[in-house]
Amino acid sequence: MLGGMQDWPLRVTRILDHAEREHGTRDIVSLYADGTRTRTDWRGIAHDSRRVAQALERLGIRRGERVATLAMNHARHLAAWYGTIGVGGVIHTINPRLFDDQLVYIANHAEDRVLFYDAAFAPIVERLKPHWTSIEHFICFDPAPGREGFEDLIAGESGDYSWVEGDERDPCMLCYTSGTTGNPKGVLYEHRSTVLEAMVISSGDVFDLRASAVVLPVVPMFHAAAWALPFASPMVGAKMVFSADYTPSVMCDLLREERVTHTAGVPTVWLALINHVESTGADPGNLKIVHIGGAAAPRAMIEWFRGRGIRVGHAWGMTEMSPLGTCGAPPAHWEELGDEQQLDYLCRQGRAPFGVELRIVDDAGNVLPRDGITSGRLQARGPWVIQQYFQDQNGPIADADGWFDTGDVAILHPDGVMQITDRAKDVIKSGGEWISSIELENAAIGCPGVAEAAAVAVPHPKWDERPLLLVVRKEGSDVGPDAIRAHLAGQVAKWWLPDEILFVESLPHTATGKLLKTAIREQYKDYRLG
Ligand code: ADP
Repeated sequence: MLGGMQDWPLRVTRILDHAEREHGTRDIVSLYADGTRTRTDWRGIAHDSRRVAQALERLGIRRGERVATLAMNHARHLAAWYGTIGVGGVIHTINPRLFDDQLVYIANHAEDRVLFYDAAFAPIVERLKPHWTSIEHFICFDPAPGREGFEDLIAGESGDYSWVEGDERDPCMLCYTSGTTGNPKGVLYEHRSTVLEAMVISSGDVFDLRASAVVLPVVPMFHAAAWALPFASPMVGAKMVFSADYTPSVMCDLLREERVTHTAGVPTVWLALINHVESTGADPGNLKIVHIGGAAAPRAMIEWFRGRGIRVGHAWGMTEMSPLGTCGAPPAHWEELGDEQQLDYLCRQGRAPFGVELRIVDDAGNVLPRDGITSGRLQARGPWVIQQYFQDQNGPIADADGWFDTGDVAILHPDGVMQITDRAKDVIKSGGEWISSIELENAAIGCPGVAEAAAVAVPHPKWDERPLLLVVRKEGSDVGPDAIRAHLAGQVAKWWLPDEILFVESLPHTATGKLLKTAIREQYKDYRLG
């Protein structure tokens, strides 16, 4: 027997309809790579999205077909997302920072038919065009004389269009993981998974979005759907600010001038912004809440924001989880905690919201206790957690009960808070015990004069593996190994202290700005300690 309520499929296009109807005049600001700043509103985005849908229909895009983007954050990109989804298609965001062979593989594997791209990435398009086998239409987002671009494509369309309807479990978006080993894998989001996740992440203990918020996703739209902020913000009618330029001084101006209240990004980006503010005295404006995720947020970074009266949310997630898994928000006894205890709390990755279930297991798959001590492989399940990679012959990766192994190692605390201790492949195994590379790195970053640090395992005759710490000094600093070791000694167990500390000019990063541990490990795999 069915209940007595209406069937209202959870389709992504309904989010945009809602924003247009209820929050139509709320601003959408874009700073393009050439420095132009444009303004539209949710009504304008909805109108342009319908025109994109009409244009794509004219180009022959049918239900379920893939339309790709190779672009930074801006309003045209946003309209391309909603327009593609509105015509029943699947928007495939490609990360322009990937290597050529990955870019070729991804677009061919996805069988993309259209590619929207930023002029800044035209050299990639020219280089790879001959290798992309399925793309028929190349459309540049930026206007240029003598080239048909995005504005020309939609110029003749009226915007009088009804979205393609369908099942709420239809696909709407495709994101590939960067694939540190093997080929990248596609994660295919659904209308329902996207709508549910967007509803949950708007809530107070996650991104705390509201109609009065001004949201600037620092995380790129090609990185796990900009953490679903372009879907959650229109739900509440927030103003959105997009920037295609990540230069810290440009970011700072934008944050201040547009009165941004909410923002989210990976630690590397915040590190650059903090260094800029510290060295120039620049004013980042009116920020109320900053979300740090994608990699562990260093304690010193959390402290810096808090020192300026800005609330910090520490979020954990991954492409396979659309991407939100957990987020830290003040618990009931927050006011009773001292400053250091609050910091300890924020250094952990927070709690799973409704819609995400977590557990930890040992290597044999036995479920481990949530005792705040035991660490194990972190597994997750829920309506926005992956079941199976896109067109993957190997079948489901989640087990029969829906549990997906995240590849992370974590502790679950009795109060529900989750703490990532490492990625399974980054853990340093010393004499049968595990050393968390993340904790070592973050403790090192807190040492004055240290700009960035990476801890990797190197072979050791007695202990199997021991930690080697690579450090990039802050400009002008001459911090030495003794000072760093003394600083670490106060924060981690003695047997965790790195056997050696090496100073390097720079460290390699992944396409999403995280430390590229595989490359670092590879480089130092034969390193001889002492
Ligand atoms: P990739 O696998 O290409 O890095 P993702 O962006 O999906 O792509 O990365 C997800 C991984 O990033 C997680 O599995 C986890 O290891 C790490 N991660 C994300 N957020 C955090 C966090 N707050 N603390 C520690 N690690 C994190």
